[in-house]
Amino acid sequence: ANVSDDSIARRRGGALFLVATPIGNLGDLSPRARDTLRDADVLLAEDTRHTAQLLHASGIERASGTLVSLHEHNERSSVAGHVARMLDGATIALVSDAGTPLVSDPGAALVRAAIDAGIEVVVVPGPCAAVAATTLSGLPADRFAFEGFLPAKHAARVEALRERAHEPRTLVFYEAPHRLRDALADLAVVFGPDRPAAVLREMTKRFESAYRGTLGELGERCASDPDMSRGEIVLVVGGATQPEEPDAAAVDALLRALLEELPASRAARVAARVTGRPRKELYDRALALGAKSES
Ligand code: SAM
Repeated sequence: ANVSDDSIARRRGGALFLVATPIGNLGDLSPRARDTLRDADVLLAEDTRHTAQLLHASGIERASGTLVSLHEHNERSSVAGHVARMLDGATIALVSDAGTPLVSDPGAALVRAAIDAGIEVVVVPGPCAAVAATTLSGLPADRFAFEGFLPAKHAARVEALRERAHEPRTLVFYEAPHRLRDALADLAVVFGPDRPAAVLREMTKRFESAYRGTLGELGERCASDPDMSRGEIVLVVGGATQPEEPDAAAVDALLRALLEELPASRAARVAARVTGRPRKELYDRALALGAKSES
């Protein structure tokens, strides 16, 4: 048995348990989550039919009438009643359809109200699509910004992306499958097509797949491969890097163009202003490109 100090069996007094459930693979339901879903006096679920299936598949039986819905439309109106029950000593467990409750899912108002009422809040952590996708993406995971869902409409999405174009942390978005292609197209325009990214879909499920590449490559792939935009999707995008120094070929091209009009010293001075590189280095490079020495 998995009995810990915060187990419901040993608890006296009400509490709110925040319980993460699988994002696909039922094997990811932790023993502690299972005990909590079985033993809490009330189980609040986003979609009770969905959670009833999880309970059934996991061999969990509950007294009838103790599985209650809490979704975005009834959360505010039902919070006071749930808090009153917990103050009366009831234990309540909260789940969402998949993953961690509150993360792009209902529950924040209930947690706030429980904290304000002095009720103990206990987390039973586990799967979360945002974290799973970040670790799978191959992009830096030491710092990342979870952005939830992007706006559905093009103009609002572009505006939201513009505000994040210089964010240095890895960015994590939930995306609806039918919007993936448009989102990738907008990302490539606003962030540039060379930004590294990854599309993680159907994680922990039968048709799980990961696509990694630049935003431009992923956009092209998405246009030609209908499988890429099927199922549940997380989009992970590398953070902005410091503006790069122009590469050697670009500097040479600039110098050659300037040398057609200017002597080497003036060409080097102008190129230094444009590229931020030392004038001496550019003068030497101008000579290497065939300009006449002026000293
Ligand atoms: N609370 C959940 C969590 O912790 O991951 C997220 C809820 S949000 C309403 C649902 C979104 O999560 C989906 O649209 C998709 O972007 C992402 N998602 C959930 N399960 C997924 C999976 N197995 N593979 C990829 N993305 C998933």
